[in-house]
Amino acid sequence: MLQSERKATEKLEETSKVYDVAIVGAGFSAIALAMNLLRVLQPPVSVAIVGDNPGFGRGTAYRTDLRVHRLNVAAARMSVYADEPDDFLSWLGSRYGSVSPDGYAARTDYGLYVRDRLAAALRDRDRAFRIDFIKAKATSCDLQIPPSFGFKLDNGDTFRAANVVLALGVGSADIPAAAGQIDDQAEHRIVRNPWRLSWRSRVRAVDTVLMLGSGLTMIDQVLALFARGHEGKVHVLSRRGLVSHSHATRKLPPVTPALGDSREISSLLASLRAQANATQDWRALMDGLRPQTQTLWQELNSEQRSRFLRHALPWWNIHRHRLAPTVHRQFDALRKAGAVSVHAGRLSAVRSSSAGLGVQYRERGSGSERSLSVDWVVNCTGMERSGVAQSPLLKSMIDLGLVVPDDLGLGIAVDEMSRVVGADGLANEGLLAVGQLTAGRFWEITAVPDIRVQARDIAVALARRL
Ligand SMILES: Cc1cc2nc3c(=O)[nH]c(=O)nc-3n(C[C@H](O)[C@H](O)[C@H](O)COP(=O)(O)OP(=O)(O)OC[C@H]3O[C@@H](n4cnc5c(N)ncnc54)[C@H](O)[C@@H]3O)c2cc1C
Repeated sequence: MLQSERKATEKLEETSKVYDVAIVGAGFSAIALAMNLLRVLQPPVSVAIVGDNPGFGRGTAYRTDLRVHRLNVAAARMSVYADEPDDFLSWLGSRYGSVSPDGYAARTDYGLYVRDRLAAALRDRDRAFRIDFIKAKATSCDLQIPPSFGFKLDNGDTFRAANVVLALGVGSADIPAAAGQIDDQAEHRIVRNPWRLSWRSRVRAVDTVLMLGSGLTMIDQVLALFARGHEGKVHVLSRRGLVSHSHATRKLPPVTPALGDSREISSLLASLRAQANATQDWRALMDGLRPQTQTLWQELNSEQRSRFLRHALPWWNIHRHRLAPTVHRQFDALRKAGAVSVHAGRLSAVRSSSAGLGVQYRERGSGSERSLSVDWVVNCTGMERSGVAQSPLLKSMIDLGLVVPDDLGLGIAVDEMSRVVGADGLANEGLLAVGQLTAGRFWEITAVPDIRVQARDIAVALARRL
Protein backbone atom coordinates (compact mmCIF):
# COMPACT_ATOMS: atom_id res chain seq x y z
CA MET A 1 0.00 0.00 0.00
CA LEU A 2 1.36 3.43 -0.90
CA GLN A 3 2.09 5.76 2.03
CA SER A 4 -0.59 8.22 0.86
CA GLU A 5 -3.15 5.39 0.66
CA ARG A 6 -2.16 4.14 4.12
CA LYS A 7 -2.61 7.63 5.56
CA ALA A 8 -6.04 7.94 3.94
CA THR A 9 -7.07 4.55 5.32
CA GLU A 10 -5.79 5.40 8.82
CA LYS A 11 -7.73 8.67 8.72
CA LEU A 12 -10.87 6.80 7.66
CA GLU A 13 -10.44 4.35 10.53
CA GLU A 14 -10.00 7.17 13.05
CA THR A 15 -13.06 9.14 12.05
CA SER A 16 -15.52 6.49 10.88
CA LYS A 17 -18.36 5.11 12.93
CA VAL A 18 -18.08 1.37 13.32
CA TYR A 19 -21.02 -1.04 13.11
CA ASP A 20 -21.46 -4.76 13.63
CA VAL A 21 -23.76 -4.92 10.61
CA ALA A 22 -24.34 -2.49 7.77
CA ILE A 23 -27.22 -2.94 5.36
CA VAL A 24 -26.62 -0.97 2.20
CA GLY A 25 -29.88 -0.11 0.42
CA ALA A 26 -33.12 0.80 2.13
CA GLY A 27 -35.93 -0.79 0.14
CA PHE A 28 -38.08 -3.71 1.20
CA SER A 29 -35.18 -6.19 1.25
CA ALA A 30 -33.12 -4.03 3.60
CA ILE A 31 -35.97 -3.37 6.00
CA ALA A 32 -37.18 -6.99 5.96
CA LEU A 33 -33.64 -7.99 6.90
CA ALA A 34 -33.44 -5.36 9.65
CA MET A 35 -36.75 -6.55 11.11
CA ASN A 36 -35.54 -10.14 11.11
CA LEU A 37 -32.25 -9.06 12.69
CA LEU A 38 -34.16 -7.33 15.47
CA ARG A 39 -35.76 -10.69 16.22
CA VAL A 40 -32.65 -12.83 16.31
CA LEU A 41 -29.63 -10.71 17.29
CA GLN A 42 -28.54 -10.67 20.88
CA PRO A 43 -27.61 -7.19 22.14
CA PRO A 44 -25.43 -5.21 22.35
CA VAL A 45 -25.33 -4.87 18.57
CA SER A 46 -25.02 -1.90 16.27
CA VAL A 47 -26.65 -1.80 12.85
CA ALA A 48 -26.53 0.84 10.11
CA ILE A 49 -29.06 1.05 7.29
CA VAL A 50 -27.84 3.21 4.45
CA GLY A 51 -30.32 4.35 1.83
CA ASP A 52 -30.40 7.08 -0.75
CA ASN A 53 -34.17 7.06 -1.10
CA PRO A 54 -36.55 8.87 1.22
CA GLY A 55 -38.95 6.50 3.00
CA PHE A 56 -37.01 3.55 4.36
CA GLY A 57 -38.75 0.29 3.41
CA ARG A 58 -40.69 1.72 0.49
CA GLY A 59 -37.91 1.35 -2.09
CA THR A 60 -38.86 1.62 -5.74
CA ALA A 61 -42.04 -0.43 -5.53
CA TYR A 62 -43.90 0.96 -2.55
CA ARG A 63 -43.19 4.68 -2.51
CA THR A 64 -45.91 5.52 -5.03
CA ASP A 65 -48.88 7.35 -3.56
CA LEU A 66 -51.20 6.49 -6.47
CA ARG A 67 -53.89 4.01 -5.57
CA VAL A 68 -54.04 2.74 -9.17
CA HIS A 69 -50.68 1.17 -8.41
CA ARG A 70 -51.69 -2.17 -6.93
CA LEU A 71 -49.69 -5.08 -5.59
CA ASN A 72 -49.30 -7.89 -8.08
CA VAL A 73 -49.17 -10.50 -5.33
CA ALA A 74 -52.31 -11.33 -3.33
CA ALA A 75 -52.46 -9.82 0.17
CA ALA A 76 -52.32 -13.27 1.81
CA ARG A 77 -48.77 -13.74 0.48
CA MET A 78 -47.33 -10.33 1.35
CA SER A 79 -46.49 -10.58 5.06
CA VAL A 80 -43.01 -9.25 5.75
CA TYR A 81 -42.38 -12.24 8.01
CA ALA A 82 -42.00 -15.66 6.39
CA ASP A 83 -43.15 -17.33 9.62
CA GLU A 84 -46.25 -15.15 10.13
CA PRO A 85 -48.00 -15.35 6.76
CA ASP A 86 -51.15 -13.48 7.89
CA ASP A 87 -49.37 -10.42 9.23
CA PHE A 88 -50.15 -8.13 6.27
CA LEU A 89 -53.74 -9.34 6.21
CA SER A 90 -54.18 -8.45 9.88
CA TRP A 91 -52.62 -5.02 9.29
CA LEU A 92 -55.05 -4.43 6.40
CA GLY A 93 -57.91 -5.71 8.55
CA SER A 94 -57.04 -3.29 11.37
CA ARG A 95 -57.11 -0.42 8.86
CA TYR A 96 -59.98 -1.30 6.54
CA GLY A 97 -62.09 -3.88 8.37
CA SER A 98 -62.68 -7.09 6.48
CA VAL A 99 -60.31 -7.75 3.56
CA SER A 100 -60.01 -10.53 1.02
CA PRO A 101 -56.84 -12.65 1.24
CA ASP A 102 -56.97 -12.87 -2.57
CA GLY A 103 -57.22 -9.08 -3.02
CA TYR A 104 -54.48 -6.87 -4.47
CA ALA A 105 -53.91 -3.99 -2.08
CA ALA A 106 -52.63 -0.55 -3.06
CA ARG A 107 -48.82 -0.49 -3.04
CA THR A 108 -48.86 2.74 -1.06
CA ASP A 109 -50.61 0.82 1.75
CA TYR A 110 -47.93 -1.82 1.61
CA GLY A 111 -45.30 0.89 2.13
CA LEU A 112 -47.22 2.10 5.21
CA TYR A 113 -47.46 -1.46 6.51
CA VAL A 114 -43.70 -1.98 6.27
CA ARG A 115 -43.09 1.37 7.99
CA ASP A 116 -45.56 0.53 10.79
CA ARG A 117 -44.09 -2.88 11.40
CA LEU A 118 -40.55 -1.50 11.44
CA ALA A 119 -41.58 1.16 13.94
CA ALA A 120 -43.20 -1.50 16.14
CA ALA A 121 -40.11 -3.74 15.95
CA LEU A 122 -37.88 -0.79 16.90
CA ARG A 123 -40.16 0.16 19.81
CA ASP A 124 -39.89 -3.36 21.16
CA ARG A 125 -36.13 -3.59 21.01
CA ASP A 126 -34.72 -0.07 20.70
CA ARG A 127 -33.03 0.09 24.08
CA ALA A 128 -30.93 -2.96 23.36
CA PHE A 129 -29.87 -2.06 19.84
CA ARG A 130 -28.19 0.81 18.14
CA ILE A 131 -29.76 1.20 14.71
CA ASP A 132 -28.69 4.21 12.67
CA PHE A 133 -30.64 5.16 9.57
CA ILE A 134 -28.19 6.93 7.30
CA LYS A 135 -29.76 8.86 4.46
CA ALA A 136 -27.02 8.80 1.83
CA LYS A 137 -25.69 6.85 -1.11
CA ALA A 138 -22.72 4.56 -0.54
CA THR A 139 -20.38 5.41 -3.38
CA SER A 140 -17.38 3.19 -2.76
CA CYS A 141 -16.02 0.52 -0.50
CA ASP A 142 -12.59 -0.53 0.66
CA LEU A 143 -11.25 -3.27 2.86
CA GLN A 144 -10.13 -2.23 6.31
CA ILE A 145 -7.96 -3.95 8.88
CA PRO A 146 -8.99 -5.81 11.08
CA PRO A 147 -11.23 -7.43 8.44
CA SER A 148 -14.05 -4.99 7.99
CA PHE A 149 -15.48 -2.93 5.18
CA GLY A 150 -15.06 0.82 4.90
CA PHE A 151 -17.67 2.82 3.00
CA LYS A 152 -17.66 6.31 1.60
CA LEU A 153 -20.95 8.16 1.28
CA ASP A 154 -22.01 10.83 -1.16
CA ASN A 155 -22.44 13.30 1.73
CA GLY A 156 -18.72 13.03 2.50
CA ASP A 157 -19.14 10.80 5.58
CA THR A 158 -17.57 7.39 6.04
CA PHE A 159 -18.33 4.37 8.20
CA ARG A 160 -17.03 0.88 8.79
CA ALA A 161 -18.78 -2.41 9.39
CA ALA A 162 -17.66 -5.91 10.27
CA ASN A 163 -20.55 -7.47 8.33
CA VAL A 164 -22.27 -6.05 5.30
CA VAL A 165 -25.43 -6.99 3.44
CA LEU A 166 -25.94 -5.48 0.01
CA ALA A 167 -29.63 -4.75 -0.63
CA LEU A 168 -29.31 -2.48 -3.64
CA GLY A 169 -32.36 -3.56 -5.64
CA VAL A 170 -32.44 -3.76 -9.39
CA GLY A 171 -30.90 -0.46 -10.41
CA SER A 172 -31.72 1.07 -13.75
CA ALA A 173 -30.84 0.05 -17.28
CA ASP A 174 -29.58 2.00 -20.26
CA ILE A 175 -31.81 2.71 -23.22
CA PRO A 176 -31.44 -0.28 -25.56
CA ALA A 177 -29.94 1.56 -28.54
CA ALA A 178 -26.48 1.38 -30.10
CA ALA A 179 -23.95 4.13 -29.31
CA GLY A 180 -24.49 7.27 -31.38
CA GLN A 181 -28.11 6.42 -32.16
CA ILE A 182 -29.59 8.88 -29.69
CA ASP A 183 -29.19 12.58 -30.53
CA ASP A 184 -27.78 14.71 -27.73
CA GLN A 185 -30.49 17.28 -28.43
CA ALA A 186 -33.12 14.60 -27.77
CA GLU A 187 -31.90 14.01 -24.20
CA HIS A 188 -34.10 16.63 -22.53
CA ARG A 189 -37.17 14.70 -23.73
CA ILE A 190 -35.90 11.28 -22.70
CA VAL A 191 -36.80 10.01 -19.25
CA ARG A 192 -34.05 7.57 -18.40
CA ASN A 193 -35.32 6.80 -14.91
CA PRO A 194 -39.13 6.72 -14.70
CA TRP A 195 -38.99 6.19 -10.92
CA ARG A 196 -38.07 9.86 -10.57
CA LEU A 197 -41.66 10.79 -10.09
CA SER A 198 -41.29 14.41 -11.18
CA TRP A 199 -41.06 13.58 -14.89
CA ARG A 200 -44.83 13.24 -15.31
CA SER A 201 -45.45 16.84 -14.27
CA ARG A 202 -43.41 18.00 -17.30
CA VAL A 203 -45.63 16.10 -19.75
CA ARG A 204 -48.52 18.08 -21.24
CA ALA A 205 -51.89 16.28 -21.32
CA VAL A 206 -51.84 16.25 -25.15
CA ASP A 207 -48.27 14.98 -25.54
CA THR A 208 -47.47 11.74 -27.36
CA VAL A 209 -45.37 9.45 -25.20
CA LEU A 210 -43.34 6.38 -26.12
CA MET A 211 -42.70 3.84 -23.39
CA LEU A 212 -39.74 1.57 -24.08
CA GLY A 213 -40.39 -1.86 -22.57
CA SER A 214 -43.74 -3.57 -22.02
CA GLY A 215 -43.29 -4.98 -18.52
CA LEU A 216 -44.80 -3.99 -15.20
CA THR A 217 -42.84 -0.73 -15.05
CA MET A 218 -44.53 0.36 -18.27
CA ILE A 219 -47.99 -0.55 -16.96
CA ASP A 220 -47.31 1.53 -13.84
CA GLN A 221 -46.23 4.55 -15.82
CA VAL A 222 -49.11 4.36 -18.31
CA LEU A 223 -51.74 4.11 -15.57
CA ALA A 224 -50.13 6.96 -13.67
CA LEU A 225 -50.19 9.18 -16.78
CA PHE A 226 -53.86 8.51 -17.48
CA ALA A 227 -54.74 8.89 -13.80
CA ARG A 228 -53.68 12.53 -14.10
CA GLY A 229 -55.91 13.11 -17.13
CA HIS A 230 -53.62 12.34 -20.03
CA GLU A 231 -55.31 12.78 -23.41
CA GLY A 232 -52.40 12.22 -25.82
CA LYS A 233 -51.42 8.97 -27.46
CA VAL A 234 -49.15 6.49 -25.71
CA HIS A 235 -47.02 4.07 -27.72
CA VAL A 236 -45.30 1.07 -26.18
CA LEU A 237 -42.32 -0.56 -27.89
CA SER A 238 -40.64 -3.78 -26.87
CA ARG A 239 -38.83 -6.57 -28.73
CA ARG A 240 -41.86 -8.87 -28.76
CA GLY A 241 -44.64 -6.51 -27.76
CA LEU A 242 -45.88 -8.91 -25.09
CA VAL A 243 -47.81 -7.63 -22.08
CA SER A 244 -48.36 -9.49 -18.80
CA HIS A 245 -51.50 -11.57 -18.34
CA SER A 246 -53.97 -11.01 -15.55
CA HIS A 247 -54.25 -12.99 -12.36
CA ALA A 248 -57.40 -15.11 -12.29
CA THR A 249 -60.41 -13.35 -10.83
CA ARG A 250 -61.35 -16.57 -9.05
CA LYS A 251 -58.22 -18.19 -7.70
CA LEU A 252 -57.79 -21.95 -8.16
CA PRO A 253 -55.57 -24.09 -5.93
CA PRO A 254 -52.00 -24.46 -7.29
CA VAL A 255 -51.27 -27.55 -9.42
CA THR A 256 -47.75 -28.89 -8.92
CA PRO A 257 -46.20 -29.70 -12.31
CA ALA A 258 -44.21 -32.88 -12.97
CA LEU A 259 -40.74 -31.70 -13.99
CA GLY A 260 -39.27 -35.01 -15.18
CA ASP A 261 -35.53 -35.60 -15.43
CA SER A 262 -34.57 -33.57 -18.47
CA ARG A 263 -33.23 -30.11 -17.84
CA GLU A 264 -33.10 -29.18 -21.51
CA ILE A 265 -35.00 -25.92 -21.80
CA SER A 266 -36.98 -26.85 -24.91
CA SER A 267 -38.24 -30.15 -23.48
CA LEU A 268 -38.95 -28.59 -20.07
CA LEU A 269 -41.01 -25.84 -21.68
CA ALA A 270 -42.81 -28.27 -23.98
CA SER A 271 -43.72 -30.43 -21.00
CA LEU A 272 -44.93 -27.44 -18.96
CA ARG A 273 -46.97 -26.20 -21.92
CA ALA A 274 -48.64 -29.61 -22.35
CA GLN A 275 -49.42 -29.77 -18.62
CA ALA A 276 -50.78 -26.21 -18.68
CA ASN A 277 -53.08 -27.11 -21.59
CA ALA A 278 -54.38 -30.06 -19.60
CA THR A 279 -55.06 -27.89 -16.53
CA GLN A 280 -58.30 -26.00 -16.02
CA ASP A 281 -56.37 -22.72 -15.78
CA TRP A 282 -52.67 -22.45 -16.71
CA ARG A 283 -52.22 -19.99 -13.85
CA ALA A 284 -52.75 -22.79 -11.34
CA LEU A 285 -49.80 -24.63 -12.90
CA MET A 286 -47.58 -21.52 -12.81
CA ASP A 287 -48.51 -21.06 -9.14
CA GLY A 288 -47.65 -24.72 -8.50
CA LEU A 289 -44.30 -24.28 -10.23
CA ARG A 290 -43.33 -21.28 -8.16
CA PRO A 291 -42.20 -23.07 -4.98
CA GLN A 292 -39.97 -25.28 -7.15
CA THR A 293 -38.48 -22.55 -9.32
CA GLN A 294 -35.41 -21.76 -7.19
CA THR A 295 -34.45 -25.44 -7.01
CA LEU A 296 -35.13 -26.00 -10.69
CA TRP A 297 -33.01 -22.97 -11.62
CA GLN A 298 -30.11 -24.26 -9.56
CA GLU A 299 -30.33 -27.62 -11.31
CA LEU A 300 -29.78 -25.94 -14.67
CA ASN A 301 -26.25 -25.48 -15.91
CA SER A 302 -24.96 -22.16 -17.12
CA GLU A 303 -25.72 -22.91 -20.77
CA GLN A 304 -29.29 -24.00 -19.97
CA ARG A 305 -29.86 -20.86 -17.92
CA SER A 306 -28.65 -18.60 -20.68
CA ARG A 307 -30.78 -20.48 -23.24
CA PHE A 308 -33.77 -19.88 -20.98
CA LEU A 309 -32.98 -16.16 -20.84
CA ARG A 310 -32.45 -15.96 -24.61
CA HIS A 311 -35.54 -17.85 -25.69
CA ALA A 312 -38.08 -18.01 -22.89
CA LEU A 313 -37.70 -14.88 -20.76
CA PRO A 314 -40.43 -12.72 -22.37
CA TRP A 315 -42.95 -15.59 -22.11
CA TRP A 316 -41.87 -16.36 -18.57
CA ASN A 317 -42.33 -12.73 -17.56
CA ILE A 318 -45.86 -12.36 -18.90
CA HIS A 319 -47.08 -15.64 -17.41
CA ARG A 320 -45.23 -15.43 -14.13
CA HIS A 321 -45.38 -11.68 -13.33
CA ARG A 322 -49.11 -11.21 -13.73
CA LEU A 323 -51.21 -8.15 -13.11
CA ALA A 324 -53.96 -7.58 -10.59
CA PRO A 325 -57.23 -8.09 -12.52
CA THR A 326 -58.32 -4.45 -12.04
CA VAL A 327 -54.99 -3.22 -13.38
CA HIS A 328 -55.19 -5.55 -16.35
CA ARG A 329 -58.73 -4.36 -17.12
CA GLN A 330 -57.70 -0.71 -17.03
CA PHE A 331 -54.77 -1.26 -19.36
CA ASP A 332 -56.85 -3.38 -21.70
CA ALA A 333 -59.52 -0.68 -21.88
CA LEU A 334 -56.90 1.90 -22.85
CA ARG A 335 -55.67 -0.37 -25.64
CA LYS A 336 -59.16 -1.06 -26.89
CA ALA A 337 -59.96 2.66 -26.89
CA GLY A 338 -56.87 3.27 -29.02
CA ALA A 339 -55.25 5.46 -26.35
CA VAL A 340 -52.36 2.97 -26.05
CA SER A 341 -50.75 1.01 -28.91
CA VAL A 342 -48.22 -1.73 -28.36
CA HIS A 343 -45.55 -2.34 -31.05
CA ALA A 344 -43.11 -5.22 -31.38
CA GLY A 345 -39.68 -4.23 -32.64
CA ARG A 346 -36.16 -3.19 -31.86
CA LEU A 347 -35.30 0.46 -31.24
CA SER A 348 -32.90 1.80 -33.88
CA ALA A 349 -32.58 5.51 -33.15
CA VAL A 350 -34.03 8.54 -31.40
CA ARG A 351 -33.62 11.75 -33.42
CA SER A 352 -34.42 15.28 -32.42
CA SER A 353 -36.67 17.27 -34.75
CA SER A 354 -38.44 20.62 -34.66
CA ALA A 355 -41.69 18.74 -33.91
CA GLY A 356 -40.24 16.73 -31.01
CA LEU A 357 -38.61 13.32 -31.33
CA GLY A 358 -38.45 10.94 -34.26
CA VAL A 359 -38.15 7.35 -33.10
CA GLN A 360 -37.08 4.66 -35.55
CA TYR A 361 -37.48 0.96 -34.89
CA ARG A 362 -37.17 -2.29 -36.80
CA GLU A 363 -40.50 -4.07 -36.74
CA ARG A 364 -40.49 -7.65 -35.49
CA GLY A 365 -41.47 -10.17 -38.14
CA SER A 366 -41.38 -7.89 -41.22
CA GLY A 367 -37.97 -6.39 -40.44
CA SER A 368 -39.23 -3.07 -41.88
CA GLU A 369 -37.96 0.24 -40.50
CA ARG A 370 -40.85 2.12 -38.88
CA SER A 371 -40.98 5.52 -37.29
CA LEU A 372 -43.02 7.29 -34.65
CA SER A 373 -43.24 10.99 -33.87
CA VAL A 374 -43.42 11.52 -30.15
CA ASP A 375 -42.84 14.19 -27.52
CA TRP A 376 -41.28 11.96 -24.88
CA VAL A 377 -39.41 8.67 -24.66
CA VAL A 378 -39.61 6.94 -21.28
CA ASN A 379 -37.23 4.09 -20.47
CA CYS A 380 -39.27 1.38 -18.75
CA THR A 381 -36.78 -1.42 -19.40
CA GLY A 382 -35.21 -1.31 -15.90
CA MET A 383 -36.73 -4.33 -14.18
CA GLU A 384 -36.19 -6.44 -17.25
CA ARG A 385 -32.62 -5.38 -17.94
CA SER A 386 -31.01 -4.74 -14.59
CA GLY A 387 -27.34 -5.30 -13.96
CA VAL A 388 -24.42 -4.16 -11.86
CA ALA A 389 -22.92 -1.74 -14.36
CA GLN A 390 -24.89 1.26 -13.10
CA SER A 391 -23.69 1.13 -9.48
CA PRO A 392 -20.45 2.99 -8.59
CA LEU A 393 -20.44 1.09 -5.28
CA LEU A 394 -20.52 -2.30 -6.98
CA LYS A 395 -17.90 -1.16 -9.46
CA SER A 396 -15.56 -0.27 -6.60
CA MET A 397 -16.21 -3.65 -4.99
CA ILE A 398 -15.53 -5.40 -8.29
CA ASP A 399 -12.24 -3.48 -8.60
CA LEU A 400 -11.25 -4.80 -5.16
CA GLY A 401 -12.17 -8.36 -6.13
CA LEU A 402 -14.80 -8.45 -3.36
CA VAL A 403 -17.59 -8.91 -5.86
CA VAL A 404 -17.89 -10.48 -9.31
CA PRO A 405 -20.88 -10.29 -11.62
CA ASP A 406 -22.70 -13.61 -11.96
CA ASP A 407 -22.25 -15.60 -15.17
CA LEU A 408 -25.44 -14.25 -16.72
CA GLY A 409 -24.99 -10.60 -15.76
CA LEU A 410 -28.19 -10.60 -13.71
CA GLY A 411 -26.51 -9.49 -10.51
CA ILE A 412 -23.53 -10.63 -8.47
CA ALA A 413 -22.18 -14.09 -7.67
CA VAL A 414 -23.36 -15.52 -4.33
CA ASP A 415 -23.36 -18.99 -2.83
CA GLU A 416 -26.40 -20.94 -1.64
CA MET A 417 -26.32 -19.00 1.67
CA SER A 418 -26.39 -15.62 -0.15
CA ARG A 419 -22.72 -15.01 0.76
CA VAL A 420 -20.96 -12.94 -1.87
CA VAL A 421 -18.37 -14.84 -3.91
CA GLY A 422 -15.26 -12.81 -4.70
CA ALA A 423 -12.76 -12.89 -7.54
CA ASP A 424 -10.86 -15.64 -5.65
CA GLY A 425 -13.95 -17.86 -6.00
CA LEU A 426 -14.48 -17.97 -2.22
CA ALA A 427 -17.66 -17.02 -0.39
CA ASN A 428 -17.16 -14.15 2.06
CA GLU A 429 -18.74 -14.86 5.47
CA GLY A 430 -19.06 -11.18 6.29
CA LEU A 431 -20.44 -9.96 2.97
CA LEU A 432 -23.90 -11.02 1.85
CA ALA A 433 -26.53 -9.90 -0.62
CA VAL A 434 -30.31 -9.96 -0.56
CA GLY A 435 -32.97 -9.51 -3.23
CA GLN A 436 -32.63 -9.14 -6.96
CA LEU A 437 -28.83 -8.83 -6.86
CA THR A 438 -28.81 -12.56 -6.18
CA ALA A 439 -31.00 -13.49 -9.17
CA GLY A 440 -28.13 -15.26 -10.94
CA ARG A 441 -28.11 -17.86 -8.14
CA PHE A 442 -31.81 -18.01 -7.20
CA TRP A 443 -33.69 -16.52 -10.18
CA GLU A 444 -37.01 -16.35 -8.32
CA ILE A 445 -35.97 -13.66 -5.87
CA THR A 446 -37.73 -10.50 -6.98
CA ALA A 447 -40.90 -10.55 -4.90
CA VAL A 448 -41.75 -10.39 -1.22
CA PRO A 449 -42.65 -14.11 -0.74
CA ASP A 450 -39.09 -15.08 -1.73
CA ILE A 451 -37.13 -12.11 -0.37
CA ARG A 452 -38.64 -12.49 3.12
CA VAL A 453 -37.34 -16.07 3.35
CA GLN A 454 -33.89 -15.00 2.20
CA ALA A 455 -33.92 -12.06 4.67
CA ARG A 456 -34.81 -14.38 7.55
CA ASP A 457 -32.07 -16.86 6.62
CA ILE A 458 -29.43 -14.13 6.34
CA ALA A 459 -30.47 -12.70 9.72
CA VAL A 460 -30.09 -16.12 11.34
CA ALA A 461 -26.67 -16.62 9.71
CA LEU A 462 -25.48 -13.20 10.92
CA ALA A 463 -26.77 -13.86 14.43
CA ARG A 464 -24.57 -16.97 14.55
CA ARG A 465 -21.51 -14.87 13.65
CA LEU A 466 -22.07 -12.08 16.17
C1 LIG B 1 -43.15 -1.18 -9.68
C2 LIG B 1 -42.90 -2.42 -8.92
C3 LIG B 1 -43.96 -3.11 -8.36
C4 LIG B 1 -43.75 -4.27 -7.64
N1 LIG B 1 -44.80 -4.91 -7.07
C5 LIG B 1 -44.59 -5.98 -6.29
C6 LIG B 1 -45.66 -6.64 -5.61
O1 LIG B 1 -46.82 -6.28 -5.76
N2 LIG B 1 -45.37 -7.70 -4.83
C7 LIG B 1 -44.11 -8.15 -4.67
O2 LIG B 1 -43.90 -9.10 -3.94
N3 LIG B 1 -43.08 -7.56 -5.30
C8 LIG B 1 -43.28 -6.50 -6.10
N4 LIG B 1 -42.24 -5.89 -6.73
C9 LIG B 1 -40.91 -6.46 -6.57
C10 LIG B 1 -40.09 -5.62 -5.62
O3 LIG B 1 -38.92 -5.40 -6.33
C11 LIG B 1 -39.84 -6.28 -4.29
O4 LIG B 1 -41.07 -6.54 -3.66
C12 LIG B 1 -39.03 -5.41 -3.32
O5 LIG B 1 -39.66 -4.16 -3.19
C13 LIG B 1 -37.59 -5.27 -3.72
O6 LIG B 1 -36.98 -4.45 -2.76
P1 LIG B 1 -35.42 -4.20 -2.74
O7 LIG B 1 -35.14 -3.56 -1.44
O8 LIG B 1 -34.72 -5.46 -3.04
O9 LIG B 1 -35.15 -3.23 -3.95
P2 LIG B 1 -35.52 -1.63 -4.15
O10 LIG B 1 -36.93 -1.43 -3.79
O11 LIG B 1 -35.06 -1.35 -5.50
O12 LIG B 1 -34.63 -0.94 -3.05
C14 LIG B 1 -33.25 -0.82 -3.13
C15 LIG B 1 -32.88 0.51 -2.54
O13 LIG B 1 -31.48 0.59 -2.41
C16 LIG B 1 -31.08 1.89 -2.75
N5 LIG B 1 -29.68 1.87 -3.14
C17 LIG B 1 -29.13 1.32 -4.26
N6 LIG B 1 -27.81 1.53 -4.27
C18 LIG B 1 -27.51 2.21 -3.14
C19 LIG B 1 -26.30 2.71 -2.60
N7 LIG B 1 -25.14 2.56 -3.23
N8 LIG B 1 -26.35 3.36 -1.42
C20 LIG B 1 -27.54 3.52 -0.77
N9 LIG B 1 -28.71 3.06 -1.24
C21 LIG B 1 -28.69 2.42 -2.42
C22 LIG B 1 -32.01 2.26 -3.91
O14 LIG B 1 -32.09 3.64 -4.09
C23 LIG B 1 -33.32 1.67 -3.42
O15 LIG B 1 -34.04 2.57 -2.63
C24 LIG B 1 -42.44 -4.74 -7.47
C25 LIG B 1 -41.37 -4.04 -8.05
C26 LIG B 1 -41.59 -2.89 -8.75
C27 LIG B 1 -40.43 -2.14 -9.33
